[in-house]
Amino acid sequence: MARRQIIKNGDPVLHKKSRAVERFDERLGQLLDDMTATMRAAEGCGLAAVQVGVLRRVAVIDAGDGLLELVNPEIIGQEGQQEEQEGCLSFPGEHGITRRPAVVRVRAQNRQGTWCFYKAEGLKARAFCHEIDHLDGITFKSRVIREG
Ligand code: ZN
Repeated sequence: MARRQIIKNGDPVLHKKSRAVERFDERLGQLLDDMTATMRAAEGCGLAAVQVGVLRRVAVIDAGDGLLELVNPEIIGQEGQQEEQEGCLSFPGEHGITRRPAVVRVRAQNRQGTWCFYKAEGLKARAFCHEIDHLDGITFKSRVIREG
């Protein structure tokens, strides 16, 4: 595993849309391993591939209850609302209150290409929304509804 450089605010790549993963090969496994090492070193709870300069629909999340490796993730259901403070490893020191669904249902492939289904609430629901936004070139800054 190797840590990769996290792309910071101001780089236009953060606003680009990532492409679907089609090959479930060793390169994908290496990317996932490197992203996990990078997220852990930065003490974040999520990281999208675009944040290490790779425009592929890949993200890792660890909201405190274990690592999730997400390939081609999609939100397939949502309920309710929550308004909580959010930040991003690409925007060091910046925070704001965002409005997100209280509960999300997500489907994503794993590193072998098998579809997996997730249901999350609280911080983990926010992390899913935040990382999937990154894959569409959307940063949390455009979701901030007030300072906080
Ligand atoms: Zn982020």
